[in-house]
Amino acid sequence: MKNEEGKIQEKNIKILVNHNIEKVILSGHPWVFDKSIISQKGDGPPGTLGIVFDRKNRFLAAGLYDPLSPLRLRILQKRKPELINEDFFIERLKKAFSTREFLPSTGTTGYRLINGENDGFPGLVMDRYEDTLVIKIYTCAWIVHFNKILPSLSGLFPHRRLLLRLNRHCMKETDYLHGFYDGQILYGPPLSGAVVFCENHLKFEADLLKGQKTGFFLDQRDNRKKVQELSRDRNILNVFSYTGGFSVYAAKGGAKHVTSLDLSGPALESMERNFALNPELAHIQRDTIQGDAFKELKKLIDKGKKFDMVILDPPSFAKKKEETSDAIKAYKQLNSLGVSLLNRGGILVTCSCSAHVSPEEFRHAVLSTINKSNTSIIEETGHGIDHPVTFKEGRYLKGLFIRS
Ligand code: SAH
Repeated sequence: MKNEEGKIQEKNIKILVNHNIEKVILSGHPWVFDKSIISQKGDGPPGTLGIVFDRKNRFLAAGLYDPLSPLRLRILQKRKPELINEDFFIERLKKAFSTREFLPSTGTTGYRLINGENDGFPGLVMDRYEDTLVIKIYTCAWIVHFNKILPSLSGLFPHRRLLLRLNRHCMKETDYLHGFYDGQILYGPPLSGAVVFCENHLKFEADLLKGQKTGFFLDQRDNRKKVQELSRDRNILNVFSYTGGFSVYAAKGGAKHVTSLDLSGPALESMERNFALNPELAHIQRDTIQGDAFKELKKLIDKGKKFDMVILDPPSFAKKKEETSDAIKAYKQLNSLGVSLLNRGGILVTCSCSAHVSPEEFRHAVLSTINKSNTSIIEETGHGIDHPVTFKEGRYLKGLFIRS
């Protein structure tokens, strides 16, 4: 990138990409894969700046280079070269924080502050859980740039503790971690046990050190609220419940009975604690099933059980593009089981967090398993405002609310 005198620095990597990718980058897409790189001058460790030039040797974009990943360059800025220094990141942090400013007034102290590439931080997310901030990185390219981000953080968003999480690929790259490690407290007191935070005035705990994502599925907040609004007097089955997010909201919405199903015993135990954190919901009748969703749903069907709402929020079925067709089969199978458990007029809430399955593919997979003559889509949903989406792959969460 440019140095203080405005000259392109020598140690940056010069990258040429094919013409199609040039257009894709200029349209705002933030990823350059290794296979799109035609030629490269120079090399360097993760975090070196890679500069993309067009065929007339004009500056096109700059990003974080990662030789360890097929996702070789994550674009930080395009068209006009800018100095990538502390001020560059401060501007982005301020913008991201201001979008979320209203959330605490909705009784919410657990939400996403930085949504990766969609907020100009490709491969980095930051979540708030009450007074703890969690930074999670998906490329160790960020580590050498922490000195441009961390010092300004307390001034921009006061917090008591800052925790670092690394995704599993980063954890292995010890040569490039510069002493940083997963679960490291970067600032503030040590963390022991779960952190309690609020979502729409409901209390939840999250295990920020070992929990999935950064501890909680913050991306489902709006869908959970919608479930609350539709729950009154209904008998509800929450499949893939994890720590009971949808179950607690359903109880708050006045559900008659809530059954939560998950493979994970510790997740179901955490759900018990989440109900205990909201004592006003103690009277709601509920039970749990620990087991594989596909098998347990079949058992419920065999027993002739019926529900007024079935929630299906499985883990990603397609981690790679090649797994897309298997994922679609799994969605069909799962939704067909879910629909079989619905009473007439019941509601199916079905979600997909597989980035490789498009909203259209998901809708088609779900609707193909349902008798359409008795069915209407109440709403098609996505992420909450704290999970903005600026490029196709960013739109990973799909939700369908269907009345059958
Ligand atoms: N709905 C949750 C998030 C679900 S995450 C929320 O709102 O917070 C996916 C969950 O699926 C995890 O808790 C995981 O333990 C569970 N899971 C994964 N495979 C499963 C299976 N085959 N059967 C049942 N649960 C499964």
